Amino acid sequence: MTNSVKMLDGRSIPKLGLGVWQATNEQVIEAITTAFEAGYRLIDTASVYENETGVGEALKMSTLPREEMFITSKLWNPDQSNVEQALEDSLTRLQLDYLDCYLIHWPAPSLGQYTNAWKGLIKAQQSGLIKSIGVSNFLPEHIDTLIQQTGVTPVINQIEKHPLFSQQSLSEWCTQRGILVQAWSPLAQGGKGIFEQPEVTTIAAKYAKSPAQVILRWHLQHNTLVIPKSVTQSRIVENIQVFDFTLTPEEMTLIDGLDKHQRLGPDPLEFV
Ligand code: NAD
Repeated sequence: MTNSVKMLDGRSIPKLGLGVWQATNEQVIEAITTAFEAGYRLIDTASVYENETGVGEALKMSTLPREEMFITSKLWNPDQSNVEQALEDSLTRLQLDYLDCYLIHWPAPSLGQYTNAWKGLIKAQQSGLIKSIGVSNFLPEHIDTLIQQTGVTPVINQIEKHPLFSQQSLSEWCTQRGILVQAWSPLAQGGKGIFEQPEVTTIAAKYAKSPAQVILRWHLQHNTLVIPKSVTQSRIVENIQVFDFTLTPEEMTLIDGLDKHQRLGPDPLEFV
């Protein structure tokens, strides 16, 4: 299994990246430096994480060529009516000329702005400020609206997804349309008990891997992209060492069975 996959727009995206939600500007500098050394190329931030400045510092410190990095940021809800300025501010904080991917963070349907925001992303893509455009926390009805209004399909839907909340039907819906599913909170924000489940610990022992590695592998074998977060050096290194073993169909089914339809984050229909 290779470490990247093609998106609908023909560009490649790494299957695994580093998430940096709830990390400070100081923490992300060390975390991203460690991650790049360990082989990560994708960094997932957002304006609302208030750490784009630290991410920008880390990118500037790196000796990696810009074209080898894949930097994602997200448009925050109140900025849906002001895409141009929000994107410019993110690029300034990140010290970048372009983003590899920009996502509308939440549909926030009560604002009634997400289609206009999507038009803003399309325009910014045409002017070269964003390479690929996608969405996050969108339901089929929201994505259908975007496609009907603009003819442009998002390349990614970044959604909450982990063994306790596997979102099978939304994932299948996206896959059928060529939209890649990227899991946020792929480790259920540190396990929420899944690291101790006997199904997981038994599989982990068999492959001499950690429970976190088994869960990340489960995502990858479901063709889900992952952005596990850590600021701990050993975990950052551990989380990318998931391309050298393969779960059997029976093991995949055992982990599928842990689904409790249990959201950890907000409901996309309600969150503003
Ligand atoms: P996660 O599932 O990645 O869990 C992170 C936590 O798991 C860490 O803080 C640490 O406590 C633990 N952990 C990490 N590696 C571990 C290991 N190897 N062993 C044991 N414990 C380990 O949760 P997350 O941060 O919520 O999600 C990942 C990323 O997804 C975020 O950082 C962010 O970039 C993105 N995200 C996006 C949205 C959205 O609305 N689009 C929402 C939440 C998160």
